[in-house]
Amino acid sequence: MSIQVNQLTKIYGKQVAVNEISFNIPTGQIVGFLGPNGAGKSTTMKMITGYIPPSSGTGTVCGIDMVEDSLNVRKIVGYLPENNPLYLDMYVTEYLDFMAGLSGVTAIKSAVKNVISLTRLTAERHKKIGQLSKGFRQRVGLAQSLIHEPKVLILDEPTSGLDPIQVMEMRNVIKELGSEKTVMLSTHIMQEVEAMCHRVIIINQGKIVGDDTLDNLKNAKNQSMEEIFRNLTGHVDHI
Ligand code: ATP
Repeated sequence: MSIQVNQLTKIYGKQVAVNEISFNIPTGQIVGFLGPNGAGKSTTMKMITGYIPPSSGTGTVCGIDMVEDSLNVRKIVGYLPENNPLYLDMYVTEYLDFMAGLSGVTAIKSAVKNVISLTRLTAERHKKIGQLSKGFRQRVGLAQSLIHEPKVLILDEPTSGLDPIQVMEMRNVIKELGSEKTVMLSTHIMQEVEAMCHRVIIINQGKIVGDDTLDNLKNAKNQSMEEIFRNLTGHVDHI
């Protein structure tokens, strides 16, 4: 099993952001993580990647405890955060070199070359990150998340704000990556889920309200993904 979470909870002050959620993701699955704004998706992803500790509950990534051993979890997880923080004054290759060094990669040159090619950044690699369009910046974020050859990828709204062509290209890259890695991605776009994911987990107000393969969900309910999402979350405005 790649990701296992058990009764995972995060409370910020009085706000229960994630409320006793449990799920297992086997190796090699691409899972869409859906939910309305504020449902707890980013918080869950930050806990899985070891960036914030849970308030309670347990979890492992490839058998490594996400609380007790978060440093080693980060070594096997690639994470693209929602706001994709980057150093805008750095050049693409310079930034990826730097991130490779920070991640403890030894063969830095070949690792950088490899992720640049994977994320189709070759033509832009000599530009400053601040000069790139949003879509290419997103690819730099993805390249950075891949630099240490992680087994598990956690992508928080990887196609947010991209134009339709960039969305398609990003989906293709993620699908390609999904053939050898476990991928959990959050999105508000149902077509994205249908185009890429084997399975969906739906969260609402910090609780899991749906977890099944795409086919099972659609066959059982005989509804579109939008309708299933609306029914499970009681939301109409947030897709
Ligand atoms: P979106 O789709 O809008 O990105 P989300 O599903 O990723 O939303 P989270 O960002 O995980 O949702 O937020 C879940 C809840 O936790 C929200 O009510 C949010 O306001 C709250 N929250 C998130 N981070 C913090 C924080 N650092 N301090 C306090 N509350 C927080």
